[in-house]
Amino acid sequence: MSLPFTLLIDPVSVDSERISFDDTFHEMDSAAPALRVGELSAQRGDGIFETLSVVNGHPQEVEPHIARLRDSAEICDLPVPNPAQWRAAIAYAVARLPQQGELALKFVLSRGVESGPAPTAWLHATRAADFGAVRATGVRVVTLDRGYPRGVAERAPWLLMGAKTLSYAINMAALREATRRGADDTIFVTTDGYVMEGPTSSVIVRIDGVYVTPAPNGAILHGTTQQSLFEYLRAQGVPVEYRDVTLSELREADASWLVSSVRLAVSVTTLDGAPMRTDFAVSNEFNSYLLGRTDN
Ligand code: PLP
Repeated sequence: MSLPFTLLIDPVSVDSERISFDDTFHEMDSAAPALRVGELSAQRGDGIFETLSVVNGHPQEVEPHIARLRDSAEICDLPVPNPAQWRAAIAYAVARLPQQGELALKFVLSRGVESGPAPTAWLHATRAADFGAVRATGVRVVTLDRGYPRGVAERAPWLLMGAKTLSYAINMAALREATRRGADDTIFVTTDGYVMEGPTSSVIVRIDGVYVTPAPNGAILHGTTQQSLFEYLRAQGVPVEYRDVTLSELREADASWLVSSVRLAVSVTTLDGAPMRTDFAVSNEFNSYLLGRTDN
């Protein structure tokens, strides 16, 4: 099967709590129209998604991605996805994809058509961009104010912070701002100076030998790649910690990384124009581990 590959999932019944699907998946011509104009995903970005990596035919971290899709659905008052259905859809797609190289497999659950009977769901696979160079050389990062203080998710849950919604316009705008400032990527910080996450990545910082990531307290996504790296580090007896990280701790860290499912681990080489300490040996180790996972 050639790429891109698109699979539509037909919901046949839905109630307020649970969605169940027909077990038939519909392969689509990726160039052909597939969604209706009234789709709320297209009109309002009203839906949720996940992107997982497929490396040499192995889908990575399937269960953490499905678990996060369920969390996002709950935050957004969407019907809670049926894990067995999504597992089957991912397996169906992966069996039809090229078994060599790195692919990005996105899966989406939209609120569906306005006043329509059910959500819309689909999977879409493309070949991943070649991130070899950036994994080897790292990224220049600027910090950007996210506009909210720490604790915003509890005070204003309707902001849907912590859900992976389709509304990524802000995240993309932040990346453009980073480019305007001569950088490659950005790290969001709260108005009171705490590190959050990148627009498409989690932050891991090494402070005095401890690998630290900002606690997923509802305002940021709990990254599947970060979780996988923490498992790897724990298995080697290396200390890891979830806690608040201040901007000054980030600036003074032994090393820091942006990590995400498809680009994997990239070193932060400069922060707001100032050089950062790096550890490329660890970056390489992280990426070898991430690329070698075959247990999903
Ligand atoms: N935070 C945000 C806002 C993201 O969009 C992503 C991934 O796209 C991540 C963190 C990293 O998550 P994962 O490692 O599961 O890809």
